[in-house]
Parts: sequence; structure tokens; C-alpha cells
Amino acid sequence: MRTIGLLGGMSWESTVGYYRAINEGIKREKGGLHSAKIAMVSVDFAPIEVMQQQGDWEGMAALLIEHGQQVEAAGADCLLICTNTMHRVADAVQDNIEIPLLHIADATASALRHYGIQRVGLLGTAFTMEQSFYAGRLADQHGLDVLTPDAAGRDIVHRIIYEELCLGVLKDGSRAQYLEIIASLDERGAEAVILGCTEIGLLVKQHDTPTRLFDTTAIHAEAAVAFALENGE
Ligand code: GLU
Repeated sequence: MRTIGLLGGMSWESTVGYYRAINEGIKREKGGLHSAKIAMVSVDFAPIEVMQQQGDWEGMAALLIEHGQQVEAAGADCLLICTNTMHRVADAVQDNIEIPLLHIADATASALRHYGIQRVGLLGTAFTMEQSFYAGRLADQHGLDVLTPDAAGRDIVHRIIYEELCLGVLKDGSRAQYLEIIASLDERGAEAVILGCTEIGLLVKQHDTPTRLFDTTAIHAEAAVAFALENGE
């Protein structure tokens, strides 16, 4: 079995979900007492969030490169950056490590393709919904039609992520707001909605809505399990 590398802590609330989902996947595939081989570096999110607000993507790239190299040095065979937003610096990280970086948007696009979905809604941070590194990649590299909420909706989704979900705060009122936004994407023709922030799945579950959801944490974790067990290892 190959060793999965995780760069976590952004936020740690969602990294917990990665750890559980990856171990559950290995247990499902191999049975018994098998569990995942994981090398993880978990960062302090507070200074990163400040750098995000300042738009200091070069500083964040340098930080994630340093930590990605630590994960590689710890014996990982691949690297997962456990957040959608920080994939803004994924190319820089990949350029500075030898092991493959499993890109969260590519894993998500391949899950969507599997279900024949073409027109998809995207929820995430403002960075993820508005910048080209994510929505653009889904459109340009994977040929998907990506819908995002209107400006007011994007603001609500973004604010709840940082002020509540990353702090482990789950509110019924916020879930209701998310469900309303998901319903509006559905009405605009989205065949499914990507939970493109690794904490959203903590708040909104598939049973809350008839709209098909693609949870990037679960999808990314499954991609790691498949990588770890490739070649029947
Ligand atoms: N975990 C979140 C994401 O998937 C947001 C936190 C961050 O900015 O990294 O985008």
C-alpha cells in the first residue's frame, strides 16, 4: 500500500473528515484491521487566512511548498492539499516536489464525468467561486459549464465558511441559507452542485436536498484511497 500525504489544517475541522474517510476507504477495500498509511503536516490556519485577505498568494505558495516538501520527506507517495481554496497555489507546490499532487478539482471533474454531468453549480469561498484557478480549470480543462450563486449568495456562502464552519459552528439557519442557494442553482439548470469547500459537507448533507451534491472532501479522499491501492497494492 502506498503512503498518502496530507497537507491539512485548512481548516482542521475538515482535515478530520479526510482522515476518517481515507481510513474508512482502506478498511472497506482491504478489510479487517487494515488502515491507511498517512504522512501528514497540519498547519496553523490563522496566519494563512490573514494572507488570503491580503492576497499574498506568493507567501502562501512558499509556505505550502515548504510543508509539501516536509510531507514528501516523511515518506509520502502523493500529496493532497486538503482545501479547495489553497489549490490556487497547487501548481507552484507541484513544481517543487517529486511526488504527484492529486488535484481536488480534477478528482471532482472526473466524478462528475462518471455521472454524465455537464452543467454544475459551485459553492466555495469567494476565491474558489470567483477566480480562474478552480472554476476556470473545471471549464477550460474539463469542459464543464460552471454556475456560481449571484453576488449576494456568494457573500453568504463565503462568510459562513470563515465565520462558522472553519470554527466548527453548525447552525440550522445557515444550513437553510445554503439550501436556498443550492435550490436557486438547481432552478438555473445545474444538474448537480459541487460542495467546493472542504467544510460545507459538515453542514449540508445529501439527505437535506433533492439536488445531487458532490462533496469535494469525500471525492478527494476516495482519489487518495484509489492511489494508495493502485496496482493491487
Ligand atoms: N477548506 C476551505 C476550502 O476547501 C476553505 C478554507 C481555506 O481557505 O483553505 O476551500
